[in-house]
Amino acid sequence: MSTATVEIPIHQNVTTFLGAPRKMLIGGRWLEAASGKTFPTYNPATGEVLAQVAEGNSTDVDRAVIAARKAFESGPWRTLTTSERGRLIWKLADLLESHLEEFAQLESLDNGKPIGVARAADVPLAVDHFRYMAGWATKIEGNTIPISVPYTPGARYHAYTLREPVGVVAQIIPWNFPLLMAAWKLGPALAAGCTIVLKPAEQTPLSALRLGELICEAGFPDGVVNIVPGYGETAGAALAAHPDVDKVAFTGSTEVGKLILRAAAGNLKKVSLELGGKSPNIVCDDADLEASIPGVASAIFFNQGQCCCAGSRLFVEKGIFDKVVAGVAEDAKKIKVGPGMDLATQMGPLVSDEQQRRVLGYLESGLSEGAKAVVGGHKLGDKGYFVEPTVLVNTTQKMKITQEEIFGPVVCAVPFTDLGEVLQAANDSIYGLAAAVWTRDVGKAHRIAAELRAGSVWINCYNIFDAALPFGGYKQSGWGREMGHDVLELYTEVKAVTVRL
Ligand code: NAP
Ligand code: MG
Repeated sequence: MSTATVEIPIHQNVTTFLGAPRKMLIGGRWLEAASGKTFPTYNPATGEVLAQVAEGNSTDVDRAVIAARKAFESGPWRTLTTSERGRLIWKLADLLESHLEEFAQLESLDNGKPIGVARAADVPLAVDHFRYMAGWATKIEGNTIPISVPYTPGARYHAYTLREPVGVVAQIIPWNFPLLMAAWKLGPALAAGCTIVLKPAEQTPLSALRLGELICEAGFPDGVVNIVPGYGETAGAALAAHPDVDKVAFTGSTEVGKLILRAAAGNLKKVSLELGGKSPNIVCDDADLEASIPGVASAIFFNQGQCCCAGSRLFVEKGIFDKVVAGVAEDAKKIKVGPGMDLATQMGPLVSDEQQRRVLGYLESGLSEGAKAVVGGHKLGDKGYFVEPTVLVNTTQKMKITQEEIFGPVVCAVPFTDLGEVLQAANDSIYGLAAAVWTRDVGKAHRIAAELRAGSVWINCYNIFDAALPFGGYKQSGWGREMGHDVLELYTEVKAVTVRL
């Protein structure tokens, strides 16, 4: 870990924002929690409190859902043209872009991620996502459908479909990309004309709350976006169960995804889930190793390994196994681990002491079952929640560390001898979020891509995201697709209208 750290100066707006307890956004107003309670959010690089935040509970969720319902049923939002709706979303993107540095800093301070990553990825991707979705507002269309209706001989009909907003939407997001996850959720819901109650993760509520200020500044009508920070077991559970919420969209652990599903059963609200992963990353012996070694290293170490699509199971063809593992371990050793606000930092702390404990627990379990750390395997320093980038070998399919999502900078490397064997192993998981293959053989690459049971497959690359590309999981990695035009299905209902002529 870098010891002499030179942290960047904190932006004046960030200092001001952190200086006062942050309130929740309900019906266009910033309110304290009904209970008057607040909770702390921490800087994971130091463990110190960053700010106090209003702690929403079921009473606040009720207030927010009432505001969202009112905005959906009777507010000016309903009568805006689709073009006006699109322009508002575009304006939000412009505002966000003009505050890029401030958001990058808030993200780095609250989540721990390197400021360079937040500047280059998190904030620009969120801006781009809003722009992409702004364009969709005017392009959500129904169809005209020729119908025959054999039981009414002689009658003629004109039939068409309308695509309408699903209504009041609850959105519950995680802490690994706090701003970007807010953008992924809000963008399509707004484009479709829904109204929203968003609950950010307790670990990282700040960027969503600052985004709420920009939403007000952009001129969205009151109650269209409501933001209720708080804990999952209280605010989150109340949202998922709420009888007047039409749809819940959730990103987080598979375990909580199942709770959301159960809670949603009360009023059969629509559910979409973007859950965990244990993604296989396959390196064939005809791959370009100069590209694939750094590629598989960043597939697992990016964002401290806290990516739902992290390439956490590395399969390498036997003849090149030692070379690839040594190369990835070498890359791991070179990673500069330190506070996110230090420009030299390439890997920050994990998000929380709980997450650090969870990851260290997995390491302990793997090592005690016979896995061997080629590099890493421990926590780093005694301040903040740092964990060494770790490469494990000698793992078996049965171990907890090869089956469960670790959500930290830990990769399990496994040799393979033939394609049938590696495909079987790659698909031997309850998850199916992402996968990758590295090879110079185009035919083999596409055959493997077709066989992998995963929502995203990368060939000779990893973690390539675009607002236009759908993202989501097979199996227990989720329901539905975010991004691209596919996501609009999650936020619209189809109405069939039939006219007798
Ligand atoms: P989590 O509990 O699934 O948190 C995700 C979101 O769900 C947070 O906003 C959380 O609120 C909320 N939540 C928790 N319990 C809820 C409930 N009963 N009803 C409604 N909402 C609820 O994830 P975590 O505990 O932070 O992390 C645990 C593991 O989940 C990680 O180690 C990782 O494996 C996985 N994870 C996956 C993703 C992903 O992108 N797929 C993201 C994060 C974590 P609070 O945080 O405020 O309690
Ligand atoms: Mg925090």
